[in-house]
Amino acid sequence: MRRVLILGGTAEARALAAELTGEGTHVVSSLAGRVRNPRLPVGEVREGGFGGPDGLAAWLATERIDAVVDATHPFAARMTASAAEASARTGVPLLLLRRPGWRESPGDAWQRVSSLEEAADRLAEGAAGRVFLTTGRRSLPVFTGLSGMWLLARSVDPPDAPVPAHVHVLLDRGPYTVEGERSLIHEHRLDVLVTKDSGGEMTSAKLVAARELGLPVIMVDRPAPPPGILLVDTVTAAAAWAQG
Ligand code: NAP
Repeated sequence: MRRVLILGGTAEARALAAELTGEGTHVVSSLAGRVRNPRLPVGEVREGGFGGPDGLAAWLATERIDAVVDATHPFAARMTASAAEASARTGVPLLLLRRPGWRESPGDAWQRVSSLEEAADRLAEGAAGRVFLTTGRRSLPVFTGLSGMWLLARSVDPPDAPVPAHVHVLLDRGPYTVEGERSLIHEHRLDVLVTKDSGGEMTSAKLVAARELGLPVIMVDRPAPPPGILLVDTVTAAAAWAQG
């Protein structure tokens, strides 16, 4: 039976595992193991890092993997680079499944930036006092030093370190609704939204709410994929490729 490794942690990875399982493919889904209570895909699941490209290359050989689909989050750049290197070394074919990024619509006021640090710089330059921060708990230290600002930081799991008094952590996990996002913006009197360009529908409601309410958005661009990597943007295309 064909054996496919899905590097996961996304809704697309779960959908792909469901689509491939039962179609004559043995799927192993891999999770980083950092979320406390992850949504699990169907089929076999392994958790934790491989130990860099060397570890992944060894693992692919031991597990007799025929193909790898990297369906990690668009900002999981280290895992993607590691998969590209392990694939080049072992000859195990690799596909990158990456959902499309978000596109600006009329009425949006987005500023695109290339890093979290640049997003923090833009905040520091602006007049905004109350910030809706959705860039993930691990990015929090980049923003907590900004003076004169209050942050609503929404994340799936709590931040590791204690947060200062001017940061309010909201633990939640998508999908979100436009109505819910609108209420949140009103309730906390938010002036600006900071987000990564994750793409997808699970978390896009905040962008619609921001547009409707005239809220500016600081959008952190995705890291570029490794050069030469084969890339698709739908689960259907990835499933067709993975079936060989
Ligand atoms: P990352 O910075 O690219 O990865 C750091 C290290 O974590 C990797 O080198 C690898 O360790 C391990 N790792 C990452 N993804 C893995 C996976 N699917 N299976 C096994 N090991 C994995 O990744 P990240 O941004 O921390 O993301 C971690 C996980 O969360 C991914 O599964 C991703 O899809 C998911 N996620 C990330 C975001 C985000 O904003 N970054 C958002 C939603 C979900 P080794 O080098 O030891 O192999």
